[in-house]
Amino acid sequence: MSTEAAQHLIIGQGLAGSALAWHLIHAGQNCLVVDRPLGESASRVAAGLVNPLLGRKIKPDWRQAECLEAAHSYYRATEAELGGSWWDCCEIWRELADEDQLAFWQQRREDPLCAQFAGPLLPWLPDWEGKGQAAITYGAAVLHAEQLVNAQRNWLKSKQSLCEAQILPSDIETLASGKLRWREQEFESVIWCNGFEIAQQLKLPWLESRLSQGCILDLKMPENFLAPEAVLHFGHWLVRHGEIWRLGASYDWVWSSPGEPSPTAPQELLHSLNQRYQGEYQCLRARAAVRPIIRYSQPVAGALPGMPGQYMLGGLGSRGCTTAPWVSQQLTKLLMQGEELPADLEPIALLRAYEKRQSKLAAR
Ligand SMILES: Cc1cc2nc3c(=O)[nH]c(=O)nc-3n(C[C@H](O)[C@H](O)[C@H](O)COP(=O)(O)OP(=O)(O)OC[C@H]3O[C@@H](n4cnc5c(N)ncnc54)[C@H](O)[C@@H]3O)c2cc1C
Repeated sequence: MSTEAAQHLIIGQGLAGSALAWHLIHAGQNCLVVDRPLGESASRVAAGLVNPLLGRKIKPDWRQAECLEAAHSYYRATEAELGGSWWDCCEIWRELADEDQLAFWQQRREDPLCAQFAGPLLPWLPDWEGKGQAAITYGAAVLHAEQLVNAQRNWLKSKQSLCEAQILPSDIETLASGKLRWREQEFESVIWCNGFEIAQQLKLPWLESRLSQGCILDLKMPENFLAPEAVLHFGHWLVRHGEIWRLGASYDWVWSSPGEPSPTAPQELLHSLNQRYQGEYQCLRARAAVRPIIRYSQPVAGALPGMPGQYMLGGLGSRGCTTAPWVSQQLTKLLMQGEELPADLEPIALLRAYEKRQSKLAAR
């Protein structure tokens, strides 16, 4: 495919931009995806957990059923077409340390919304000294996200659909025809999939939120350490990625550089591990990136108000592995057939809520 013929310019090649490009290209559209030269990003650093029972309430989150279904078929399709293995179905062993938590789990086992995911309570495995008991969560998965985005980057390159560059909003020119121009090429649409930087780069304060940086450690554990398909959840996570185990993630609210772990995060993670594991391990490296969180911690996708021809797909927060496939499918339907997006995805709703808050503040 020649990039000259591209209809859609996608900015960012993380999970969001890659999934959108995948769906558009498979629907016969031409895309040019622009991403900076390789560096740390949320999609590269992510632990890749897909957990069907989330948060303090331990229950399914936003649009879980449709997101899980879309995730499963999208990741399996990418594996089959690109020839790789990055989607592993697994069980989560979750630490329940006290009577209240155990009672709460029992309720979840009886709750029709959660029962299919909430499994039995088991004693911890011999080489893991977790507190209390392990509650088994079914229907979980791990996405080896960095492998996927690397494979998709090569796939896009092979189609001449990837360009390494940084785009500024001011580099995009709106033509009288309604098309958008970047570097002498014209596009019908520009879609910002630029992760946590969207509010800052586009100067859209209504997309701002409390961003958090996460640090993850790569560990070398003994060869026979736990079954590879078991994911441990004890406030932090321990997940196997091939030869290494990944321990994460911290939530840090200040950072000096997005890809540089805060000085205390690795100690915090290792402390949590050392409280439960006395065996040998080696810490190979620490990585960090910023989660793209937007107000209400839900994905946001659709037309950017006041920016004709420009769209966004962002706000994937801590659940991008679960939500990126379904959300990108919805945006593809809008871009190709003009199909209306589910209202809870639309950016305009956030703008309206922001304006309301601002006018309340002004009235005080
Ligand atoms: C430590 C950590 C652990 C996580 N663990 C999990 C997990 O277990 N499960 C889960 O589901 N999610 C997890 N997440 C969240 C998940 O990583 C994100 O939801 C997801 O990766 C976001 O994808 P994205 O494409 O929106 O953003 P990103 O991955 O940040 O991609 C944005 C891309 O856009 C590029 N870019 C930005 N601006 C420009 C520009 N102007 N021009 C060109 N390129 C640009 C960036 O360089 C980057 O490559 C975790 C995140 C972190 C940080």
